[in-house]
Amino acid sequence: MKICPKCDSQNANNAAVCKNCGASLNDVPDLSDVVADVEQKSRKPAVAFLCAFVSFAASASKGLLPLESEDVTSTHYILYFIGCAVSIIFLVFCALLLRGIFKKKSIPAIGLAAVLLGIVCLIMVILDVLSLPATIADFRTLF
Ligand SMILES: [Zn+2]
Repeated sequence: MKICPKCDSQNANNAAVCKNCGASLNDVPDLSDVVADVEQKSRKPAVAFLCAFVSFAASASKGLLPLESEDVTSTHYILYFIGCAVSIIFLVFCALLLRGIFKKKSIPAIGLAAVLLGIVCLIMVILDVLSLPATIADFRTLF
């Protein structure tokens, strides 16, 4: 649907001129496209939050593995590495979705939550990366 900029009449999506006043509608966007665009933009922060949450869960789940105890097996390490990889992948998704969020004047609450959770995940990932050489060295002692 196109809304005439002169008289506010509703016109068909493919209308070239307003059926009421004859004004040109060539530069008027189809309203359903505009609505779909706005809806998609507003979903982005929510999806970003979901990605940050998955990243956080993957990173936190590694803490459940008994890496310090003596009954640790190679499976525990493999799960640990998978947890690291999943955490990093979803953190990247989160960052890509949140790109440019601070340029906007109004940031939705879910977007801010995604940013905060993303920062927590980033710290966890950095700690993982820093301890990775030690973890790999421990992993090798199993063989
Ligand atoms: Zn008109």
